[in-house]
Amino acid sequence: MPAPLRQPEPQRIQQDLQDLALLRDPDLAGWSRPTFTGVERESRRWVAARMRATSLDVHVDGIGNLIGVLPGQGAGGKAIVVGSHTDTVEGGGRFDGTVGVLGALEAVRLLEESGIKLRHDLRVVDYFNEEPNRFGLSCLGSRALASNLSPDHLATVDEDGATLAEALQSQGLDPADIPACAWSANEVLASLELHIEQGPILEQQGAGLGVVTAIAGIARLRAVFKGRRDHAGTRPMALRQDAGCAAAGTVLAIEAIGSSGADAVGTVGEIRFTPEATNVVSEEALLTAEFRSSDAGWFGLAREQLEQAVERESRRRGVHGSVLWLPPEPPTAMDPRLSELIGRSIAGLGHDFLRLYSGAGHDAVQLARLGPAGMIFLPSKDGRSHTPEEWTDLADIALGVHALAASIVQIDGWEP
Ligand SMILES: [Zn+2]
Repeated sequence: MPAPLRQPEPQRIQQDLQDLALLRDPDLAGWSRPTFTGVERESRRWVAARMRATSLDVHVDGIGNLIGVLPGQGAGGKAIVVGSHTDTVEGGGRFDGTVGVLGALEAVRLLEESGIKLRHDLRVVDYFNEEPNRFGLSCLGSRALASNLSPDHLATVDEDGATLAEALQSQGLDPADIPACAWSANEVLASLELHIEQGPILEQQGAGLGVVTAIAGIARLRAVFKGRRDHAGTRPMALRQDAGCAAAGTVLAIEAIGSSGADAVGTVGEIRFTPEATNVVSEEALLTAEFRSSDAGWFGLAREQLEQAVERESRRRGVHGSVLWLPPEPPTAMDPRLSELIGRSIAGLGHDFLRLYSGAGHDAVQLARLGPAGMIFLPSKDGRSHTPEEWTDLADIALGVHALAASIVQIDGWEP
């Protein structure tokens, strides 16, 4: 009969959350701690110290992942992996990512105080640079673990022409060390990430916890429309080749296509006219957009409809339209057996939960390449995230930490 698991102590979690939140860039809005800044480096030293105070063996790998290990009692081989990230978007909040890292530390304390010895190693990870950086890339740390950070990624340039490799070097990281960061598929028993939902579903349904079924895939595109530049005062409407209007028609099509799937969304990022002048008919227009869905089959349909819309909106105006699709990121299913185990662990604590999918990307997408991956979601007040108003109640965080710790115990008993 295993020892009963103690209850989390909410005030300990709150203290850690408050202390970490104070490490923010004072020149940016909200609770900002973007990667490649001094305050982010400082915050990671703080997290490392908290890991050591939680009796973990701490090291930083070649890409900058902060890894704290609680050695197992000898089953050897595979490790249980838990964690999230502590970097933020600019103008972000205090809970995105941080509850997964600091919550994992409270889970370790619970295991210790309950006298529970794991057979497997437990790795608590603060993944490096989860949020999209100025190179347009996200999840650098977990990508490196999953052997999914390529020379092409490292050659990506920012607006000033600097490469990602150079940015890493400026942080004291050597890109040559990245291949050695990779974990092999047979060293991960399972990975778990506790995270805020960042959407309104759990709150709307009155659920304290969510078990994630899948993480949305993303298809990003860039459409270019080439029309004819004319005098806006003298050119009759019927005789125009207005590239801007073709782009505008496509914006509305993206809204319609995004509304056509059960959990699909479509969003326009930017739209730019050349020239930007009211007295000239647009000669050229550029539009960037993305679609997301957990349904891999839906993307084929969305792609077809978008291309038809660009063609239709262009043709009726005598404009030439073209679409460039960026490499798609397919939806990632969470492991069904692991999700079931998480659900049983939550039920075993006497709580309800909701199964839901994640429209936001997470490190769990990369971890799923290495072994069974699962996520536990916590409610976000008003569904707000990536804003200073982001909020999750402490009682919900404590519930999630309890569920995380109970799931770790169950995974430890798994026979792979
Ligand atoms: Zn996050």
